[in-house]
Amino acid sequence: MKVRLRNPDREVEVAGGRKVHQVLGELGINPDTVLVIRERELLTREERLDEADEIEIRPVISGGSGMKCRRCKAPAVVELRRHNAAFCHDCFVRHVREQVKRAIAAFQMFGPEDRVLVAVSGGKDSLALWDILLELGYRADGLYLGLGIGGYSSRSRDLARTFVEGRDTHLVEVDLAEEYGFDVPTAGRKGSRSTCAVCGLSKRYVFNRAAGDRGYDVVATGHNLDDEAATLLGNTLRWQTEYIARQFPVLPAEEGLVRKVKPLYRLSEHETAAYAFLRSIDYVVEECPLVAGNTQLRYKEAMNQLEAGSPGTKAQFFLNYLDRGAPLFATQDAAELHPCERCGQPTTGRFCAFCRAREQILGEQLEGPSTGDRPGEGPGDRELVESMSEEVLPEEIYRRVRG
Ligand code: AMP
Ligand code: ZN
Repeated sequence: MKVRLRNPDREVEVAGGRKVHQVLGELGINPDTVLVIRERELLTREERLDEADEIEIRPVISGGSGMKCRRCKAPAVVELRRHNAAFCHDCFVRHVREQVKRAIAAFQMFGPEDRVLVAVSGGKDSLALWDILLELGYRADGLYLGLGIGGYSSRSRDLARTFVEGRDTHLVEVDLAEEYGFDVPTAGRKGSRSTCAVCGLSKRYVFNRAAGDRGYDVVATGHNLDDEAATLLGNTLRWQTEYIARQFPVLPAEEGLVRKVKPLYRLSEHETAAYAFLRSIDYVVEECPLVAGNTQLRYKEAMNQLEAGSPGTKAQFFLNYLDRGAPLFATQDAAELHPCERCGQPTTGRFCAFCRAREQILGEQLEGPSTGDRPGEGPGDRELVESMSEEVLPEEIYRRVRG
């Protein structure tokens, strides 16, 4: 039988007449990291495959069985080993939305009157999140930031636009090159920061600014449980206590900073991918071409290995951190913020980290007499980074900041 594998795309022939998990085993694939699809249907691990079948194995990011739905006993389409449960289509969709409701309530992320701006990358998580919030009746618009990463960026943008069709919502589009004069690949070549570091800095900056300028109350991102667990692992391995302290599903609004929330923190990548698939949401399956070898991916792989042996490890690690760990790391960081002299966004220095990075990339000079901080290296970087970041910073920035 024919198996189509993605990322990179390739086809292999394997023997049919056996179960999904046996085929995955032969291919060395962890069932928790892929979706197995046959003719627009998701298959669980115990499903039998025929010699004549053609299946697609799509990363992330999962699998499922001859199993019955935990709620209604109909045939299950998605298996969640961590919950020791399986769900049919409708009950799974409901399960996902329940988890998001729970997250929103637990951290009082926003209410029905709030205007939410969902940062959408065109990937499964953020599009699923947007769909869930709309279905739950929230006032949610999308924000797509064009990063200029060739075909990857244009395909992502097209999918964000497609999502809006036929839905009662609005997509805000910002293009980094048009608005700020550089794109991410250029930044990677010209700046002293790594590509992923500038990209992360630009995203945080633009999300905050676009939301603030347009009167949104809150920015929601699609970070899921796998993202958060991987980030926490990275922070813990280096004992970056300030980042650990800030790794929270809500960052409250401050002067000039819009509230940031991560309503998917209770859902795995596998769950968000399955949700997007079951809701027929087209999303970019490919990874950002610049991300290869990124440390975050290695942490995810490590977590997946632990998860394969003991389902539930990721959730335990992150959710117990929120319950028991986070209070131990909480700090009262009351760095005073004031407007960047260039752009007006909050910073603790004269110029914000984004303006300084931009200056370096464009080879511009920031106006005004120098106050001693060399561009891009001032003490302001660290605080801005801390106040704006909802995740942890790539080591590159951290090292620079520490100097
Ligand atoms: P990433 O940093 O790529 O792991 O993405 C984390 C979250 O940031 C996604 O779930 C989205 O909410 C948001 N995001 C990433 N890239 C973009 C983009 N180009 N435009 C808007 N939001 C994005
Ligand atoms: Zn600035």
